[in-house]
Amino acid sequence: MIEKRPRKLQILGFEYTIEYHASLSDVTHDGRDMAWGTCDYQTATIRIFDDGERPDAEVWHTIWHEVCHAIFSICGRTFAGKEKPDEEVVVDQVASGIVSVIRNNPKVFG
Ligand SMILES: [Zn+2]
Repeated sequence: MIEKRPRKLQILGFEYTIEYHASLSDVTHDGRDMAWGTCDYQTATIRIFDDGERPDAEVWHTIWHEVCHAIFSICGRTFAGKEKPDEEVVVDQVASGIVSVIRNNPKVFG
């Protein structure tokens, strides 16, 4: 099982910094009221809410959710900063699938 949380991730050749914040207001940077995580394409920074109380699986889901946004952005599938609702649904489903595969294949990803 992967326990160590990443501080840097190479995503399709781009180095993203992963930050963990205990305050929701430190996670959001785009005027939204709240988000479990955000992906700042301009600075290649992913911010994750982690107050030490969130279950590990939820934190990892948020990490993969934001990684999916980064992948979409790099592949040109984002909409100039305006995320459409369908992107959120697709990203969330893909993130759930990734977390499930990683968690259920400890011999491969451990
Ligand atoms: Zn999202």
